[in-house]
Amino acid sequence: MIDAVRNWIDEAQRIVVLTGAGISTDSGIPDFRGPQGLWTKNPLAEKMSNINYYLADPEVRKLSWQNRLSSPAWTAKPNPGHLALVALEKRNKLHALITQNIDELHQVAGNSPEKVIEVHGTMRRVMCMSCGMRAPMQKALDRVRAGEEDPACRDCGGILKSDTISFGQQLVPEVIDRAMLVAGEADFFLAVGTTLQVYPVAGAVDVARGAGARIVIVNAQPTAYDSMADAVLPGSISEVLSALVSPARETASRSLQ
Ligand SMILES: [Zn+2]
Repeated sequence: MIDAVRNWIDEAQRIVVLTGAGISTDSGIPDFRGPQGLWTKNPLAEKMSNINYYLADPEVRKLSWQNRLSSPAWTAKPNPGHLALVALEKRNKLHALITQNIDELHQVAGNSPEKVIEVHGTMRRVMCMSCGMRAPMQKALDRVRAGEEDPACRDCGGILKSDTISFGQQLVPEVIDRAMLVAGEADFFLAVGTTLQVYPVAGAVDVARGAGARIVIVNAQPTAYDSMADAVLPGSISEVLSALVSPARETASRSLQ
């Protein structure tokens, strides 16, 4: 099956990739929703990610800041799965990369920021919940390190939060619109590390399908869209993506010429 999908990638011109938490677990960033996820293990973690608790309770915010300080994402490195998607862009195949992840590891790996559509925002920025000011997360974390337990917006005194979509918050319509637009322009749609259960993002698969794109799913567990995919590739995401995109075959065919 890997060989067939490699051929489809060779033929494709506008590949749209959708990534979820599964692509980052090999970089040491836990999947919050999975069976080993933080939310499953710690109900307080779920409270911290709920906008209503976050806005209402300073104690929840103080804990959230401590959590951000110690996030594994700050030292996480892109893994071979991320690098395979960079290789796809270098081959001029990548039309867009829609991600549910907030870790920016795609950009760290080397994908162009303008290709990446972050439907759940980014943890590397803060946003003021009152005035909308945005700033680098590390500046706010410096204030926490210096002793502020719940740093407020320096412009208006409002509550700061990571610039991500928490539970209870609306997605950004322009971002979702752009994700659906590029999905409709795909000739090949690759869903990676997501169980495709969260809407409207999962609907990008339907949009791509409707536009005639081949659908390939790479995920360790079954997904909601396996039955409509042209290929489903289980197993290690890092290994499968590397096998799909690695230049080994190009080298081999060149040496045969
Ligand atoms: Zn503000």
